[in-house]
Amino acid sequence: MIIAANFKTNKTRSETGQYLEEVETCITENGITDDVLVFPSATALQRHGGAVVMGAQNVYPVENGAFTGEIGLDQINEFDIKTVLIGHSERRHIFGESQESIAEKFDFFKAQGFTIVYCIGEPLEIREEGSEALMSYLDDQLEGIDVHYEKLIIAYEPVWAIGTGLTPDESDIGLIHGALRQKIDKPLLYGGSVKVGNAQEILAIDNVDGALIGSGALKAEDFCQIIAYAKAIK
Ligand code: PEP
Repeated sequence: MIIAANFKTNKTRSETGQYLEEVETCITENGITDDVLVFPSATALQRHGGAVVMGAQNVYPVENGAFTGEIGLDQINEFDIKTVLIGHSERRHIFGESQESIAEKFDFFKAQGFTIVYCIGEPLEIREEGSEALMSYLDDQLEGIDVHYEKLIIAYEPVWAIGTGLTPDESDIGLIHGALRQKIDKPLLYGGSVKVGNAQEILAIDNVDGALIGSGALKAEDFCQIIAYAKAIK
């Protein structure tokens, strides 16, 4: 399984360092062999030699240049970071990233051989239109994306479930992951209000290969508990 923590705009560099230490200890003590990814904020990126794979939440698809407020390839190469999150709903909906710009970003990091955690997910109004509209919306979010890329991981994250405490029914997650599996032969993570209290059930759903977790992973202890559940389910 693949268990990933997205810190968003949380935690300082020192808090991130302490968190990583705690997670490394729990990985060692529990003999975890699952993939554990952590996406800290840009100011907390650091070289990390442990079992946790560190990824960047967002990188502008250039080596360097005049792009105020952005970081590029040079800044993450400094820390040997080779994993990036692309297409997160907050990038799409708060920062207005278009499918075209997301696909360009994808191509850039694919050319650099990065592991890409690529996020898709529908807003509530689309879900309410029914499963055909929902799957068609997800298809549109895959436009321009090479779903055969060997280092691709998909995260299905319904927008209305992110940070809200709401999750789809387990049967809905199973149906959507099952439908995605027919198109995409890559690891499929579920994301959206995963926490200690529901992780066991969600990770046990067919075609769920792991989870991408925001607020429910902010405490190292909780993240470790979820990692332990993943190990037990496998
Ligand atoms: C996320 O940001 O990818 C996410 C799933 O957040 P949360 O777990 O807080 O819903």
